[in-house]
Amino acid sequence: MGRMLVTGAAGFIGSHLVERLLETGYEVIGVDGLTGYRSRERKQRNLARISDEASFRFVEEDLLELDLDGLLQGVSNVAHLAAESGVRASWGDDFSRYLERNVAVTQRLLEALSKSSVERFVFASSSSVYGSVDEKPVTEDSRLRPASPYGLSKLAAEELVGLYVRQRGVPATILRYFTVYGPRQRPDMALTRFISAAVRGEPLQVFGDGNQMREMTYISDVVDATVAALEAPPDGTYNVGGGSRATVNELIDHVQHALGTRVEVSYGPPAEGDVHSTWADLELVGRDLGYRPRVSLEQGIKAQVDWILEQGRVPGPAGEESDALKGTAR
Ligand code: NAD
Repeated sequence: MGRMLVTGAAGFIGSHLVERLLETGYEVIGVDGLTGYRSRERKQRNLARISDEASFRFVEEDLLELDLDGLLQGVSNVAHLAAESGVRASWGDDFSRYLERNVAVTQRLLEALSKSSVERFVFASSSSVYGSVDEKPVTEDSRLRPASPYGLSKLAAEELVGLYVRQRGVPATILRYFTVYGPRQRPDMALTRFISAAVRGEPLQVFGDGNQMREMTYISDVVDATVAALEAPPDGTYNVGGGSRATVNELIDHVQHALGTRVEVSYGPPAEGDVHSTWADLELVGRDLGYRPRVSLEQGIKAQVDWILEQGRVPGPAGEESDALKGTAR
């Protein structure tokens, strides 16, 4: 079995991917700078189950500064998940962070990859590269017109990957993840915010009228697709969706159902860069990578609710955490 490198290993998706790779028997190096405005402790907790594993080595460093040639020695496959994520925060002065962490880091990594003997590079892209779409599923060759600076930074990184595939022969696969959810979901993401507010007995703050439609992808399905891409040879770009769609208002209904409570909802102005609808065509990824989503929205939301309740810690509106579970509905 080869040695895998996962960047963003302490993040939401990265930590689940590392766990699966270790379970499968791979040796894994995880890199994470524990960067960003989200709490360092949360990321350390994400690694808690794996930090003592003999086949896992964690490198806490910024990919902008790390010696990547040294890091890639003996590595057979790379999953590049490190990024500054989040659509809303990408406007304004913070964009420079997105350029550095999403574009410049990817370019550094591609340079090092082109001199290495890595057999497969998998880049985690996003449905945000499509922007607003018509009321039909997007195929991988649909028009790309990001609606946010975040989406643009992921598209720029995709273009860099394409360039290094064509010019330098880097063997690469691009996966466009559609809204990922489940245990450890980032505190700035809608479902975590809704569940946390409901548990604290506070009103849910919704951006816009709640009729935005999202393709929702459960974390274990995203991991399935990513492992398939790491193990399978084709160069290409693939949608990774969950096969379930729901409006924000429907997501709130699921949360209420899973918690057995009713919650007050307050509607605010739409968030800039939020698209009206996302919808993935999954034919290509099914054909080439054998990917089929397996977890229904109801099962997935219940798993995320149960996880938040088990934690006994609830992220606050700005991502900070409190022990607000005490004395609440459950
Ligand atoms: P996350 O923020 O939880 O994880 C990203 C990790 O990357 C963080 O732990 C951060 O510390 C690390 N990182 C960022 N810049 C770094 C740098 N320069 N050096 C070292 N580490 C660095 O995000 P996530 O939700 O797990 O997303 C993982 C990937 O999937 C990202 O590339 C994101 O753009 C993509 N994606 C996520 C979703 C989603 O719904 N969560 C949807 C589409 C695409």
